[in-house]
Amino acid sequence: MSVQAPEVRSVPGIGEGVWRDLVGQDDAVRTLSEAIADPRRMTHAWLLTGPPGSGRSNAARAFAAALECPQGGCGECRECRTTFDGSHADVQIVSTKGLTIQVREARDLALAAQSSPSVGRWRVIVIEDADRLTERAADALLKALEEPVPRTVWLLCAPSVEDIIVTLRSRSRHVRLRIPPVEAVAELLVRRDGVDVAMATYAARAAQSHIGIARRLARDEGARIRRRETLLLALSIRGLGDALKAAADLASIAEDESGASSGERNAQEKAKLLEQLGADTSARTQPPHVRSAINQLEKEQKTRATRFARDVVDRALIDLASMYRDAMVVRWGKPVDLVNADIVGEVEQLARALTPEQLLLALDAIATARERIAANVPPLLALEAMCIALKLPL
Ligand SMILES: [Zn+2]
Repeated sequence: MSVQAPEVRSVPGIGEGVWRDLVGQDDAVRTLSEAIADPRRMTHAWLLTGPPGSGRSNAARAFAAALECPQGGCGECRECRTTFDGSHADVQIVSTKGLTIQVREARDLALAAQSSPSVGRWRVIVIEDADRLTERAADALLKALEEPVPRTVWLLCAPSVEDIIVTLRSRSRHVRLRIPPVEAVAELLVRRDGVDVAMATYAARAAQSHIGIARRLARDEGARIRRRETLLLALSIRGLGDALKAAADLASIAEDESGASSGERNAQEKAKLLEQLGADTSARTQPPHVRSAINQLEKEQKTRATRFARDVVDRALIDLASMYRDAMVVRWGKPVDLVNADIVGEVEQLARALTPEQLLLALDAIATARERIAANVPPLLALEAMCIALKLPL
Protein backbone atom coordinates (compact mmCIF):
# COMPACT_ATOMS: atom_id res chain seq x y z
CA MET A 1 0.00 0.00 0.00
CA SER A 2 1.42 3.37 -0.89
CA VAL A 3 0.81 6.59 0.97
CA GLN A 4 0.52 9.57 -1.30
CA ALA A 5 2.81 12.45 -0.34
CA PRO A 6 1.06 15.81 0.13
CA GLU A 7 1.36 18.10 -2.82
CA VAL A 8 4.13 20.71 -2.79
CA ARG A 9 2.95 23.99 -4.33
CA SER A 10 4.94 26.59 -6.16
CA VAL A 11 4.62 29.82 -4.13
CA PRO A 12 6.34 33.23 -3.93
CA GLY A 13 9.75 33.10 -2.23
CA ILE A 14 12.55 35.51 -1.24
CA GLY A 15 12.01 39.01 -2.66
CA GLU A 16 8.63 38.12 -4.17
CA GLY A 17 4.97 38.79 -3.32
CA VAL A 18 4.30 39.30 0.38
CA TRP A 19 8.02 38.85 1.18
CA ARG A 20 9.15 41.77 -0.96
CA ASP A 21 9.68 44.29 1.83
CA LEU A 22 11.18 41.82 4.29
CA VAL A 23 14.76 42.78 3.48
CA GLY A 24 17.85 40.93 4.68
CA GLN A 25 15.82 37.99 6.08
CA ASP A 26 16.46 35.27 3.53
CA ASP A 27 16.66 32.38 6.03
CA ALA A 28 13.39 33.32 7.71
CA VAL A 29 11.59 33.86 4.40
CA ARG A 30 12.85 30.50 3.16
CA THR A 31 11.50 28.68 6.25
CA LEU A 32 8.13 30.45 6.17
CA SER A 33 7.55 30.15 2.44
CA GLU A 34 8.49 26.45 2.54
CA ALA A 35 5.78 25.96 5.15
CA ILE A 36 3.31 27.56 2.75
CA ALA A 37 4.48 25.39 -0.14
CA ASP A 38 4.67 22.07 1.66
CA PRO A 39 2.00 21.00 4.21
CA ARG A 40 4.53 18.69 5.89
CA ARG A 41 6.52 21.75 6.93
CA MET A 42 3.55 23.55 8.41
CA THR A 43 2.84 23.69 12.12
CA HIS A 44 0.20 25.35 14.33
CA ALA A 45 2.38 27.64 16.45
CA TRP A 46 5.29 29.84 15.43
CA LEU A 47 7.58 32.07 17.39
CA LEU A 48 9.12 34.92 15.37
CA THR A 49 11.98 36.65 17.12
CA GLY A 50 14.20 39.51 16.07
CA PRO A 51 15.57 42.78 17.43
CA PRO A 52 13.29 45.85 17.34
CA GLY A 53 12.98 47.22 13.83
CA SER A 54 14.05 44.02 12.10
CA GLY A 55 10.52 43.53 10.78
CA ARG A 56 9.02 40.97 13.18
CA SER A 57 5.42 42.10 12.90
CA ASN A 58 5.81 42.67 9.17
CA ALA A 59 7.07 39.08 8.84
CA ALA A 60 4.10 37.84 10.85
CA ARG A 61 1.64 39.74 8.64
CA ALA A 62 3.37 38.48 5.49
CA PHE A 63 3.16 34.90 6.73
CA ALA A 64 -0.50 35.37 7.68
CA ALA A 65 -1.21 36.79 4.21
CA ALA A 66 0.61 33.90 2.55
CA LEU A 67 -1.50 31.46 4.58
CA GLU A 68 -4.74 33.12 3.46
CA CYS A 69 -3.75 33.83 -0.16
CA PRO A 70 -4.90 31.29 -2.77
CA GLN A 71 -1.52 31.76 -4.51
CA GLY A 72 0.49 31.41 -1.32
CA GLY A 73 1.32 35.10 -0.88
CA CYS A 74 0.98 37.02 -4.14
CA GLY A 75 0.83 40.33 -2.25
CA GLU A 76 -1.85 41.72 -4.56
CA CYS A 77 -5.12 39.89 -4.00
CA ARG A 78 -7.86 40.81 -1.57
CA GLU A 79 -6.74 38.22 1.01
CA CYS A 80 -3.19 39.58 1.00
CA ARG A 81 -4.24 43.23 1.15
CA THR A 82 -6.80 42.83 3.92
CA THR A 83 -4.36 40.78 5.99
CA PHE A 84 -1.73 43.52 5.73
CA ASP A 85 -4.12 46.32 6.63
CA GLY A 86 -5.54 44.33 9.54
CA SER A 87 -9.10 43.96 8.23
CA HIS A 88 -9.14 40.26 7.24
CA ALA A 89 -11.98 38.52 9.06
CA ASP A 90 -9.88 35.47 10.01
CA VAL A 91 -6.66 37.23 10.92
CA GLN A 92 -6.60 38.70 14.39
CA ILE A 93 -3.65 40.96 15.15
CA VAL A 94 -3.05 41.70 18.82
CA SER A 95 -0.84 44.73 19.39
CA THR A 96 -0.53 45.75 22.99
CA LYS A 97 -1.72 49.16 24.03
CA GLY A 98 -0.74 48.65 27.64
CA LEU A 99 2.49 47.42 29.18
CA THR A 100 1.25 43.85 29.48
CA ILE A 101 -1.26 41.45 27.95
CA GLN A 102 -3.68 40.41 30.67
CA VAL A 103 -5.18 37.01 31.36
CA ARG A 104 -8.67 38.14 30.27
CA GLU A 105 -7.46 39.01 26.79
CA ALA A 106 -5.52 35.74 26.55
CA ARG A 107 -8.63 33.75 27.46
CA ASP A 108 -10.60 35.55 24.75
CA LEU A 109 -7.90 34.62 22.23
CA ALA A 110 -7.85 30.98 23.33
CA LEU A 111 -11.60 30.90 22.84
CA ALA A 112 -11.43 32.54 19.41
CA ALA A 113 -8.82 29.96 18.40
CA GLN A 114 -11.43 27.21 18.79
CA SER A 115 -13.61 28.35 15.92
CA SER A 116 -12.83 27.52 12.32
CA PRO A 117 -12.05 30.27 9.81
CA SER A 118 -15.11 32.05 8.42
CA VAL A 119 -13.96 33.07 4.94
CA GLY A 120 -10.26 32.25 4.71
CA ARG A 121 -8.15 29.11 4.62
CA TRP A 122 -6.85 29.56 8.17
CA ARG A 123 -7.69 31.35 11.37
CA VAL A 124 -4.51 33.24 12.23
CA ILE A 125 -3.82 34.88 15.57
CA VAL A 126 -0.82 37.21 15.64
CA ILE A 127 0.46 38.39 19.01
CA GLU A 128 2.87 41.20 18.20
CA ASP A 129 4.33 41.57 21.70
CA ALA A 130 4.20 38.07 23.13
CA ASP A 131 6.94 39.17 25.54
CA ARG A 132 4.30 41.32 27.24
CA LEU A 133 2.11 38.36 28.21
CA THR A 134 1.79 38.12 31.97
CA GLU A 135 2.55 34.70 33.41
CA ARG A 136 -1.13 34.00 33.96
CA ALA A 137 -1.96 35.15 30.45
CA ALA A 138 0.69 32.81 29.06
CA ASP A 139 -0.82 29.96 31.07
CA ALA A 140 -4.20 30.71 29.55
CA LEU A 141 -2.68 30.41 26.06
CA LEU A 142 -0.72 27.30 26.87
CA LYS A 143 -3.72 25.00 26.67
CA ALA A 144 -4.64 26.39 23.25
CA LEU A 145 -1.12 25.72 22.01
CA GLU A 146 -1.07 22.24 23.54
CA GLU A 147 -4.26 21.17 21.83
CA PRO A 148 -4.01 22.44 18.26
CA VAL A 149 -7.21 23.17 16.37
CA PRO A 150 -6.94 21.94 12.75
CA ARG A 151 -7.09 25.27 10.90
CA THR A 152 -5.81 27.67 13.53
CA VAL A 153 -2.27 29.10 13.49
CA TRP A 154 -0.62 31.11 16.26
CA LEU A 155 2.13 33.59 15.44
CA LEU A 156 3.92 34.90 18.49
CA CYS A 157 6.42 37.75 18.07
CA ALA A 158 9.08 38.78 20.57
CA PRO A 159 12.57 40.32 20.63
CA SER A 160 14.22 37.02 21.63
CA VAL A 161 13.28 33.51 22.78
CA GLU A 162 14.36 34.36 26.31
CA ASP A 163 11.49 36.87 26.47
CA ILE A 164 8.93 34.09 26.11
CA ILE A 165 7.82 31.78 28.88
CA VAL A 166 9.54 28.45 28.34
CA THR A 167 6.36 26.36 28.13
CA LEU A 168 5.05 28.47 25.23
CA ARG A 169 8.46 28.47 23.60
CA SER A 170 8.74 24.70 23.62
CA ARG A 171 5.43 24.32 21.80
CA SER A 172 6.27 26.71 18.98
CA ARG A 173 8.54 26.50 16.00
CA HIS A 174 11.17 29.23 16.19
CA VAL A 175 12.08 31.53 13.28
CA ARG A 176 14.79 34.09 13.92
CA LEU A 177 15.02 37.42 12.12
CA ARG A 178 18.37 39.15 12.06
CA ILE A 179 19.43 42.78 11.99
CA PRO A 180 19.23 43.56 8.26
CA PRO A 181 22.34 45.00 6.58
CA VAL A 182 22.45 48.83 6.25
CA GLU A 183 22.49 48.52 2.45
CA ALA A 184 19.30 46.43 2.43
CA VAL A 185 17.45 48.94 4.62
CA ALA A 186 18.66 51.85 2.46
CA GLU A 187 17.54 50.04 -0.68
CA LEU A 188 14.09 49.48 0.83
CA LEU A 189 13.72 53.19 1.66
CA VAL A 190 14.62 54.10 -1.91
CA ARG A 191 12.32 51.52 -3.50
CA ARG A 192 9.33 51.63 -1.19
CA ASP A 193 9.35 55.18 0.17
CA GLY A 194 10.95 57.08 -2.70
CA VAL A 195 13.79 58.46 -0.54
CA ASP A 196 16.92 59.56 -2.42
CA VAL A 197 19.99 57.32 -2.15
CA ALA A 198 22.20 59.59 -0.02
CA MET A 199 19.45 60.28 2.53
CA ALA A 200 18.46 56.59 2.61
CA THR A 201 22.05 55.54 3.33
CA TYR A 202 22.45 58.14 6.09
CA ALA A 203 19.11 57.15 7.68
CA ALA A 204 19.70 53.39 7.53
CA ARG A 205 23.13 53.77 9.11
CA ALA A 206 22.05 56.27 11.76
CA ALA A 207 19.09 54.06 12.70
CA GLN A 208 21.47 51.11 12.93
CA SER A 209 19.22 49.20 10.54
CA HIS A 210 16.00 49.74 12.51
CA ILE A 211 13.62 49.98 9.54
CA GLY A 212 10.90 52.10 11.17
CA ILE A 213 13.33 54.58 12.66
CA ALA A 214 15.32 54.80 9.43
CA ARG A 215 12.14 55.67 7.60
CA ARG A 216 11.28 58.40 10.09
CA LEU A 217 14.79 59.87 10.01
CA ALA A 218 14.67 59.94 6.22
CA ARG A 219 11.34 61.75 6.12
CA ASP A 220 11.26 63.95 9.20
CA GLU A 221 13.77 66.74 9.62
CA GLY A 222 12.68 67.27 13.24
CA ALA A 223 13.68 63.68 14.04
CA ARG A 224 17.11 64.26 12.48
CA ILE A 225 17.63 67.42 14.50
CA ARG A 226 16.62 65.73 17.76
CA ARG A 227 18.95 62.83 17.07
CA ARG A 228 21.84 65.17 16.42
CA GLU A 229 21.16 67.07 19.65
CA THR A 230 21.25 63.78 21.54
CA LEU A 231 24.61 62.80 20.04
CA LEU A 232 26.19 66.15 20.81
CA LEU A 233 25.32 65.76 24.50
CA ALA A 234 28.37 63.50 24.69
CA LEU A 235 30.60 66.55 24.18
CA SER A 236 28.64 68.98 26.31
CA ILE A 237 28.88 67.53 29.83
CA ARG A 238 31.77 69.17 31.68
CA GLY A 239 30.33 69.71 35.15
CA LEU A 240 27.49 68.70 37.42
CA GLY A 241 25.23 71.48 36.11
CA ASP A 242 25.79 70.31 32.52
CA ALA A 243 24.99 66.73 33.56
CA LEU A 244 21.67 67.66 35.12
CA LYS A 245 20.78 69.83 32.15
CA ALA A 246 21.68 67.02 29.71
CA ALA A 247 19.46 64.60 31.65
CA ALA A 248 16.57 67.05 31.56
CA ASP A 249 17.13 67.59 27.82
CA LEU A 250 17.03 63.84 27.16
CA ALA A 251 13.85 63.47 29.17
CA SER A 252 12.23 66.37 27.31
CA ILE A 253 13.13 64.94 23.89
CA ALA A 254 10.99 61.97 24.89
CA GLU A 255 8.13 64.19 26.01
CA ASP A 256 8.23 66.21 22.78
CA GLU A 257 8.06 63.06 20.69
CA SER A 258 5.27 61.42 22.61
CA GLY A 259 3.25 64.64 22.73
CA ALA A 260 3.63 65.19 18.98
CA SER A 261 2.35 61.76 18.11
CA SER A 262 -0.33 61.04 20.70
CA GLY A 263 -2.49 64.17 21.08
CA GLU A 264 -4.43 63.83 17.88
CA ARG A 265 -4.76 60.08 18.18
CA ASN A 266 -6.14 60.32 21.73
CA ALA A 267 -8.77 62.83 20.64
CA GLN A 268 -9.82 60.65 17.71
CA GLU A 269 -10.13 57.59 19.95
CA LYS A 270 -12.31 59.52 22.38
CA ALA A 271 -14.57 60.82 19.60
CA LYS A 272 -14.94 57.31 18.22
CA LEU A 273 -15.77 55.89 21.64
CA LEU A 274 -18.44 58.55 22.24
CA GLU A 275 -19.92 57.77 18.85
CA GLN A 276 -19.97 54.01 19.58
CA LEU A 277 -21.74 54.66 22.86
CA GLY A 278 -24.24 56.91 21.14
CA ALA A 279 -23.32 59.72 23.56
CA ASP A 280 -24.39 63.31 23.05
CA THR A 281 -21.03 65.01 22.45
CA SER A 282 -22.42 68.47 23.12
CA ALA A 283 -23.71 67.53 26.59
CA ARG A 284 -21.76 69.06 29.49
CA THR A 285 -22.04 65.99 31.67
CA GLN A 286 -22.19 62.41 30.50
CA PRO A 287 -24.16 59.52 32.06
CA PRO A 288 -22.18 57.17 34.37
CA HIS A 289 -21.56 54.35 31.85
CA VAL A 290 -20.10 56.83 29.35
CA ARG A 291 -17.95 58.48 32.03
CA SER A 292 -16.61 55.12 33.13
CA ALA A 293 -15.79 54.11 29.54
CA ILE A 294 -13.97 57.42 29.04
CA ASN A 295 -12.01 56.92 32.26
CA GLN A 296 -10.96 53.48 31.10
CA LEU A 297 -9.84 54.83 27.73
CA GLU A 298 -7.89 57.67 29.32
CA LYS A 299 -6.16 55.20 31.62
CA GLU A 300 -5.11 53.09 28.63
CA GLN A 301 -3.93 56.18 26.78
CA LYS A 302 -1.81 57.18 29.75
CA THR A 303 -0.24 53.72 29.98
CA ARG A 304 0.50 53.85 26.28
CA ALA A 305 2.12 57.29 26.62
CA THR A 306 4.31 55.98 29.45
CA ARG A 307 5.42 53.05 27.37
CA PHE A 308 6.03 55.22 24.33
CA ALA A 309 8.06 57.79 26.29
CA ARG A 310 10.15 54.96 27.71
CA ASP A 311 10.77 53.57 24.23
CA VAL A 312 11.78 57.01 22.97
CA VAL A 313 14.27 57.48 25.82
CA ASP A 314 15.66 54.03 25.16
CA ARG A 315 16.11 54.88 21.50
CA ALA A 316 17.90 58.14 22.41
CA LEU A 317 20.25 56.15 24.63
CA ILE A 318 20.99 53.71 21.79
CA ASP A 319 21.86 56.76 19.65
CA LEU A 320 24.05 58.24 22.36
CA ALA A 321 25.87 54.92 22.83
CA SER A 322 26.62 54.86 19.10
CA MET A 323 28.68 58.04 19.59
CA TYR A 324 30.96 56.33 22.16
CA ARG A 325 31.07 53.19 20.06
CA ASP A 326 32.21 55.27 17.08
CA ALA A 327 34.85 57.04 19.22
CA MET A 328 36.12 53.60 20.18
CA VAL A 329 36.32 52.58 16.53
CA VAL A 330 38.29 55.77 15.77
CA ARG A 331 40.69 55.17 18.68
CA TRP A 332 41.40 51.64 17.54
CA GLY A 333 41.79 52.83 13.96
CA LYS A 334 39.69 49.91 12.80
CA PRO A 335 38.26 49.86 9.31
CA VAL A 336 34.64 49.53 10.43
CA ASP A 337 31.97 51.92 9.21
CA LEU A 338 30.99 54.65 11.66
CA VAL A 339 27.30 54.89 12.57
CA ASN A 340 27.73 58.67 12.71
CA ALA A 341 29.92 59.24 9.68
CA ASP A 342 28.06 62.53 9.08
CA ILE A 343 29.60 64.10 12.21
CA VAL A 344 33.02 62.46 12.10
CA GLY A 345 34.67 65.66 13.44
CA GLU A 346 32.70 65.46 16.69
CA VAL A 347 33.34 61.72 16.95
CA GLU A 348 37.09 62.36 16.70
CA GLN A 349 36.84 65.08 19.31
CA LEU A 350 35.21 62.60 21.71
CA ALA A 351 37.87 60.00 20.90
CA ARG A 352 40.59 62.52 21.86
CA ALA A 353 38.82 63.53 25.08
CA LEU A 354 38.45 60.03 26.55
CA THR A 355 40.75 57.02 27.01
CA PRO A 356 39.50 53.62 25.81
CA GLU A 357 38.78 52.72 29.46
CA GLN A 358 36.71 55.86 29.88
CA LEU A 359 34.83 55.13 26.66
CA LEU A 360 33.98 51.67 28.01
CA LEU A 361 32.81 53.14 31.31
CA ALA A 362 30.60 55.58 29.40
CA LEU A 363 29.03 52.71 27.44
CA ASP A 364 28.49 50.88 30.73
CA ALA A 365 26.77 53.91 32.26
CA ILE A 366 24.41 54.11 29.28
CA ALA A 367 23.65 50.39 29.46
CA THR A 368 22.91 50.70 33.18
CA ALA A 369 20.51 53.59 32.58
CA ARG A 370 18.67 51.55 29.94
CA GLU A 371 18.32 48.61 32.33
CA ARG A 372 17.06 50.85 35.14
CA ILE A 373 14.47 52.54 32.95
CA ALA A 374 13.31 49.14 31.68
CA ALA A 375 12.96 48.12 35.34
CA ASN A 376 10.63 51.08 36.03
CA VAL A 377 13.07 53.51 37.64
CA PRO A 378 11.76 57.03 36.83
CA PRO A 379 13.61 58.00 33.60
CA LEU A 380 14.86 61.38 34.84
CA LEU A 381 16.50 59.78 37.87
CA ALA A 382 18.27 57.13 35.78
CA LEU A 383 19.31 59.73 33.21
CA GLU A 384 20.80 62.02 35.86
CA ALA A 385 22.95 59.24 37.27
CA MET A 386 24.06 58.37 33.74
CA CYS A 387 24.89 61.94 32.71
CA ILE A 388 26.96 62.45 35.85
CA ALA A 389 28.98 59.37 34.88
CA LEU A 390 29.41 60.80 31.36
CA LYS A 391 31.11 63.99 32.60
CA LEU A 392 34.18 64.68 30.47
CA PRO A 393 37.50 64.88 32.39
CA LEU A 394 38.76 68.45 32.79
ZN1 LIG B 1 -2.54 37.05 -2.48
